[in-house]
Amino acid sequence: MIEKRDFYINGAWVPPVARNDCPVIDPSTEDTCAIISLGSAADAEAAVAAAKAAFPGWAATPPAERLALVERFLAIYESRLDDMAAAISLEMGAPIDMARASQATSGNWHIRNFITAFKAMEFIRPLGPHAPNDRIALEPIGVVGLITPWNWPMNQVSLKVTPALLAGCTMVLKPSEESPLSSLLWAEMMHEAGFPPGVFNLVNGDGPGVGSVLSRHPDVEMISFTGSTRAGKAISLAAAETLKRVTLELGGKGANLIFADADEKAVERGVRHLFNNSGQSCNAPSRMLVQRPIYDQAVETAARVAASVAVGPASQPGKHIGPVVNKRQWDQIQGFIAKGIEEGARLVAGGLGLPDGMNKGYYVRPTVFADVKPGMTIEREEIFGPVLSMIPFDTEAEAVAIANDTPYGLTNYVQSSDGARRNRLARALRSGMVEMNGQSRGAGSPFGGVKLSGRAREGGHWGIEEFLEVKAISGWDSTQG
Ligand code: NAD
Repeated sequence: MIEKRDFYINGAWVPPVARNDCPVIDPSTEDTCAIISLGSAADAEAAVAAAKAAFPGWAATPPAERLALVERFLAIYESRLDDMAAAISLEMGAPIDMARASQATSGNWHIRNFITAFKAMEFIRPLGPHAPNDRIALEPIGVVGLITPWNWPMNQVSLKVTPALLAGCTMVLKPSEESPLSSLLWAEMMHEAGFPPGVFNLVNGDGPGVGSVLSRHPDVEMISFTGSTRAGKAISLAAAETLKRVTLELGGKGANLIFADADEKAVERGVRHLFNNSGQSCNAPSRMLVQRPIYDQAVETAARVAASVAVGPASQPGKHIGPVVNKRQWDQIQGFIAKGIEEGARLVAGGLGLPDGMNKGYYVRPTVFADVKPGMTIEREEIFGPVLSMIPFDTEAEAVAIANDTPYGLTNYVQSSDGARRNRLARALRSGMVEMNGQSRGAGSPFGGVKLSGRAREGGHWGIEEFLEVKAISGWDSTQG
C-alpha cells in the first residue's frame, strides 16, 4: 500500500497539521491503492506563507534562470515518464498504454510549448514610436493558487505550474483528491530540479478544506482552476471579497457537425474521439450532429464502432477504454443513460449496467443514443462518460443553431470537404476552439472556452500572460536600456 500523507511546503516534505486520512481508490478494482491525507486550513496557510515569502526572490530571478530550472525539470520529467504513466493509470483508470502515450506525455508536451513561447516573449517593451519614454512591463501577479481535476491530471498541472513558474509567480497546487499520486510525483521532480524553497508548494485536500481557503485567501492574488462549472462558480464567489484574478477552465458539451460531404472516416473518428479517456474530457465531442442524407448510415457505423470498443482494467496493455474515475461518476452516468431512455432517445449501443462479464470496477458500456432531440437531458448536460448523442439535421443554419444552443462553449468540431463551409462555420460556432476534419490544434494554441465553459486561455503565450500583470510606465530613461 502506498502511503503518502505529507505535503510539499517550503522545499520540504511535511506532515499534515492534523492527520485526515483519505483512501485513493483504484477505479479498475474498487480497492484502496493508496492513502493520502486531506489538508486543512492550517496546511493551506503554511503553504501560502511559504509562497509569499519566496515571491520577491523568485520574481526578481532573471528570466533565463527560471527558464534553465524549467528545462532541468523537463529533462527529469521525461526520464520518469513510465513512473508518471503508472501513477496516473492507477489513480484515475487510464489504460496503461494510453496513460503513457497521451496522459503522461501531455505534461512534457505543454512544458516544451511553454518554453518556446517564453523565449519569444518580451517582458519590457516600448509602447510605440509616438511615446519614446513609455514602457510596458509584464510582471508576475504574485502568489497563485492552482486547483486541478482528475481527468487529465498532468495535462492540467503542466498547463498551470509551468507558465506560473516562467512568469515568476510562486504557487500552491491543490490537485484533485481523486488523483493525487501523479502530482506528488511531480512535486518530487520539482524538488530534484532544485527550485528555491517556497516557489512551488503542494497541499492535498478537497474543495471545502483547501480549495476554498486558497480562493478566499488575501495573500493569493490569483486562482487558476480547472474542473466543474459548479466548483468554478463557488470559487468565483469565494474569491470576490479579495478581487483576485480567477481564471476558469470548466465543462463542455461539444458538437461535432458531420456534413454529407465529410470524409468516410468522419463518423468513426468522432465516436472514438468521444470514447477516448472513457468520455472524461471537457472537450469531448459528445453531440454528433449528422446531415440527414448520411444519418442512418452514421447511426449504424456509430453503433458498430461502439460495440467493438473493448472495456478493461487500466493495468492491461492494449487499446481498450478503462473505467470511469469513481462510483459517484459511474452513478451519475447511469442516471443520464436512464434519462436518455426515459425521454425517448433511441439506444443503439451499450446501455445501463456493467459491461458483460464484469462485476467489479467502475466500468461503463460504450453507449450511443440516436434520434436525440435538442433539449433532452442528454443533449444539454455534460455526461463525462462514454455516452454519445446523435442528432440529425438538414441545413447548415439548423446545425449551427443546435450546436450553439448550449450554456457551454469549449470545443466544436466540423467535418466537411467544402473549405468555404468549414471557414464559415469556424466563425459561426460559439466556442473557444473549433477543430475541423480531424486536425488537432497545433503546438502553443490557446485552450479555453466561452460562456459556462469558463474564459481562461491556457497554453502558448496566452497561458503565460494569464499569470502576468501589465504595468504602464512613462518617463523611462531610454539611455539606460
Ligand atoms: P470538480 O470541480 O469537482 O473538482 C475539480 C477540483 O476542484 C478538485 O481539485 C476539487 O477538489 C476542487 N474543488 C471542488 N470544489 C471546490 C470548491 N468549492 N472550491 C475550491 N476547489 C474546489 O471537478 P472534477 O469532478 O474533478 O472534474 C470534472 C469536471 O472538470 C468536468 O465538468 C469537466 O468538464 C471539467 N474539466 C474541464 C477542463 C477544461 O479545461 N475546461 C478540463 C478538465 C476537466
